[in-house]
Amino acid sequence: MSTAVRASAFTEPERPKNLQIRFVTIGGSFVDVIGRGEHFKNRWKCHGCKAASQFPEEEDYLFSIREKANSHAAACRAIPLT
Ligand SMILES: [Zn+2]
Repeated sequence: MSTAVRASAFTEPERPKNLQIRFVTIGGSFVDVIGRGEHFKNRWKCHGCKAASQFPEEEDYLFSIREKANSHAAACRAIPLT
């Protein structure tokens, strides 16, 4: 079995200006890490299942959000509906 990263079967949504990282999920959707380009005040959201940072008012450090967003991308099987 190939371990190569496969491209999503779905069209990548437009990239917002404050997009810091975008992960492709195993369902073919995308998880965005959004922030202001600083190491804090970041949040994540999933285009597939609409999950997001649980406490967006408590914006988080990039090293923490990155791990949470990547873990979600590795588990989420929802496909983008738009
Ligand atoms: Zn999701």
